[in-house]
Amino acid sequence: MNIQKPSLQFRNSLSVRKSTRCIVLHHADAEKFSVYQCHACHLNNGWAGIGYHYYITKDGTIWEGRPDNTVGAHASGGNSDSIGICFEGDYDVERTMPDAQKKAGKELVAHLKAKYGISTVKKHKDVTPTTCPGSFFPFDEIAGAKANGVIHVTAVSDKVPVQAPGSIAELQAECNRQGFSAQKVDNIAGPITLAGCPMIKKGASGNITRWLQRKLNSLGFDCGNVDGDFGVKTKAAVMAYQKAKGLVADGIVGPKTWSKLLGLS
Ligand SMILES: [Zn+2]
Repeated sequence: MNIQKPSLQFRNSLSVRKSTRCIVLHHADAEKFSVYQCHACHLNNGWAGIGYHYYITKDGTIWEGRPDNTVGAHASGGNSDSIGICFEGDYDVERTMPDAQKKAGKELVAHLKAKYGISTVKKHKDVTPTTCPGSFFPFDEIAGAKANGVIHVTAVSDKVPVQAPGSIAELQAECNRQGFSAQKVDNIAGPITLAGCPMIKKGASGNITRWLQRKLNSLGFDCGNVDGDFGVKTKAAVMAYQKAKGLVADGIVGPKTWSKLLGLS
């Protein structure tokens, strides 16, 4: 079992949890949602950062959220003595959890039971009024995973290009700095943000290209090193992204591609 460390920056220091009595399982309530999006969303709530201790994506990757000995922010009324694990997906709607994700969930639950000497696993809705983790969540199977003490954990950090995307605010500020826009830097993408994004293509270089590379890498479209140079590899990543989004795959980042990247269409 590998645990991926996404190097998230927390707003303030996290306090160590005094007791650990149970594990609480959640779903993200979103079909496609990365650990970085979750972290950004929880920062937006005014929290220190991601509220879960672990986040498991559909591909079976286990991501570290808050260190598992700290107080989480995942189950109102139950944070003082629990570890929160969230699964990407909306299991009120999606009827089947991918096998890789389920397997990772069972391994992690078994590992945490052994690590903390506990056996209780709860649904979020056992603690707080909510439908989380969803009516189709395979709770019994995951919660029943046995602590066997033979799981080998390898923490993997900064493996290949696992990197958080730059914020909308960074992009807005850079477009202003380069004279493409004179917009308010409010970290909210809208039509003015879109209008301020210049067309970029192979041969371009600088911080806007750097932002693009970080964004595509975070979405799994591999630009390689975030070096700010729009080369062959970045072009190929742009084309793959465009294809995935149903756009003309020309490798040129114009308004339609920016609109997708900004989440506006
Ligand atoms: Zn929940």
